[in-house]
Amino acid sequence: MRVVFLGPPGSGKGTCAKIIGELYSVPVITTGDMLRAAVAKATQLGVTAKGYMDRGELVPDDLVNDLVAERLKQPDAAAGFILDGYPRSPKQAEALDKILKATGNKLDHVLHVTLEDQAIINRLSKRRSCPKCGAIFHLENKPPKAHDKCDVCTTTLVQRGDDKPEVIRRRLEVYRDKTQPLLDFYEKKGKIKTVRGDLDLKELPATLRRVLGHD
Ligand code: ADP
Repeated sequence: MRVVFLGPPGSGKGTCAKIIGELYSVPVITTGDMLRAAVAKATQLGVTAKGYMDRGELVPDDLVNDLVAERLKQPDAAAGFILDGYPRSPKQAEALDKILKATGNKLDHVLHVTLEDQAIINRLSKRRSCPKCGAIFHLENKPPKAHDKCDVCTTTLVQRGDDKPEVIRRRLEVYRDKTQPLLDFYEKKGKIKTVRGDLDLKELPATLRRVLGHD
């Protein structure tokens, strides 16, 4: 099973990707997480990527294409993968096509997760995450039990640097400018399926299974 997710920042792509990854037992490859890990370790890639990420810009295509190409060569991705946050520009979509052609594979689904700007801004500006275990909270909809501490591991929660209002606005502009054109690209291949990003979490697994024709 090979699936790509498209959708604005904060639309809930990551949540859907995780559900589908578990459903099909394939790895979820999240470029944002891989880049944040590189930043935390201050690798050469991380040092370069940090400035772009802090501003809400895309990290240059060549760097991300190399990162993903390496990841897709790992044995656990041989039977399938879920890509969350990639491709994000026409150059990245071309690079992914090349990899798929070279390995004789094709995408099974492109899932477009939709959400309006105002809901995105509300979601991201109130998002808090655990820097240790990655658990995600929302100050109103999913508040941590103890004020600013992770429910899972009690680490103090943080706000992602790029979840500040001015950076969120820039991420939305970049999405419209660079990533939205990919909807056309995949539409022409007849691949796109759409799911709303604000469904009840309880309904989500069944909805995703239905959209993918899994049952
Ligand atoms: P979101 O989708 O909510 O903006 P991500 O965690 O997917 O958050 O990405 C955070 C940042 O990481 C992006 O703003 C961008 O700087 C960088 N990034 C992630 N994926 C890519 C990609 N495929 N190409 C370029 N930059 C990326």
